[in-house]
Amino acid sequence: MKEYGQVIEDALIADYTTYKLAGKIRNIVIPENEEKLINLLSYLKENNEKYMVIGNGSNLIFTCDYDGVVIKLDNFNKVDIKKGIVTVGAGYNLIKLAMKTAREGLSGLEFATGIPATIGGAIYMNAGAYLHEMSEVVKEVKIIDDNLEVKTLSKEEMKFAYRKSILKEKKYICLSATLELTKGNKEKMLKTIRSRKEKRQKTQPLEYPSAGSVFQNPEGDFAGRLIEEAGLKGKKVNDAEVSKKHANFIINKGNANGEDVKYLMLFVKQKVWEKFGVELVSEQEFIE
Ligand code: FAD
Repeated sequence: MKEYGQVIEDALIADYTTYKLAGKIRNIVIPENEEKLINLLSYLKENNEKYMVIGNGSNLIFTCDYDGVVIKLDNFNKVDIKKGIVTVGAGYNLIKLAMKTAREGLSGLEFATGIPATIGGAIYMNAGAYLHEMSEVVKEVKIIDDNLEVKTLSKEEMKFAYRKSILKEKKYICLSATLELTKGNKEKMLKTIRSRKEKRQKTQPLEYPSAGSVFQNPEGDFAGRLIEEAGLKGKKVNDAEVSKKHANFIINKGNANGEDVKYLMLFVKQKVWEKFGVELVSEQEFIE
């Protein structure tokens, strides 16, 4: 597969995901450009190979070794900013973009400075925080569809909803996105970003590997409150632990694997169901 880009064999899952769980990925391929990505996808489809695209691996739980090809779009990392219109590659880091645009006095991505995503992963998930989400700033998204055709989808065609988009539904691949930002007060924006960062550091276990919030917040409530009141803070399965700092985080205390996280999540779900009759839904994605 070297003709398509850099190939890494027997990669450690821990090196490509924020949970840093145990296990290996058979091949990671980092395509050089769009043409090589399409050729790679067509090769993988023809050969019935298992594959997936990942971004920063900040929402993923690999439950075992991945016997397939993981595609990373690190080379899709161009950014162009003209009069508030930002065109950015799928592999570009969201926090880096949010900081860059705020420093240039462009408002719209302040909510994203604590989300360790790539643009592709953030659009796929319609990532959000502080009652804002990616869909608010997206103008259009360049994708590859099932037939390996490159298309540009409007915001409406992206079918954004709470933590989902058409990318999730159809498994389209995001190549780049065009965002529309507005003029803002630079000092005010940077102040908001700083104070949110301090708050996250105080309330979230950022000193340990995790994939952020484990469960979606049920309508009108908080998953963290339910888990805390069910007395589950500190509950462990091997090295996977319900954080004592924030109950809706599971942290990896060292050598956790995906099965440990999965069993802990099932245990938490069961206990919350028994105590409150609320069915928690995972925000994180299992990869088998
Ligand atoms: P990955 O985790 O690598 O992948 C997630 C999914 O996106 C996979 O299905 C993958 O196939 C798909 N995908 C990735 N790139 C592409 C692409 N180019 N085209 C098509 N599909 C693609 N999330 C929030 O919404 N709000 C938060 O406040 C938040 N805080 C977090 C804090 C911490 C400390 C951590 C670790 C995570 C947090 N998250 C949060 C979760 C996570 O960052 C988001 O879900 C993010 O959108 C995932 O992006 P990623 O690039 O890491 O994608």
